[in-house]
Amino acid sequence: VLFENKNLFQRDELKHFLRQKGLKYTRQREAIWSAFRYLEAHHPSTEEIFNYLKSISPGVSWATLYRTLRRMRELGVIVERDFGDGHLHYEVGGRDLAHGHLVCNRCGKVIELEGRKVEDFWRGTAEKYGFEISRKRIEGFGLCRECEKKRPKD
Ligand SMILES: [Zn+2]
Ligand SMILES: [Zn+2]
Repeated sequence: VLFENKNLFQRDELKHFLRQKGLKYTRQREAIWSAFRYLEAHHPSTEEIFNYLKSISPGVSWATLYRTLRRMRELGVIVERDFGDGHLHYEVGGRDLAHGHLVCNRCGKVIELEGRKVEDFWRGTAEKYGFEISRKRIEGFGLCRECEKKRPKD
């Protein structure tokens, strides 16, 4: 586990971490990290990060963003998630990756299912079947409360 809690990884920690890994902390990387953190609750795609990035730091190219995300992924700073909608989503790494997600099919909202129940489920399942689980996914897809309200009723 790299980071105990997701608030830990602020600007200074990132700087420190990248330096430890022999990566320079450039202004572009800082901008990318800020954009990522701003959007993090949405588990943004590369496109979403890029669109926001353009508004705070117009000089960063797609290629730079792409390379930086790849490096951060290799270092475990961020992890990717596949919600089956054709592009990858990112979230901060180092958290317990056993947490689940609810994904709204209409607006793309992502709700995190954290806490003990998810962990207990995986622990119990591993014990019951004697199974060493290396990749855990719990994802529910449908309509969030707001979108469900807006749905035309028949
Ligand atoms: Zn929705
Ligand atoms: Zn998540």
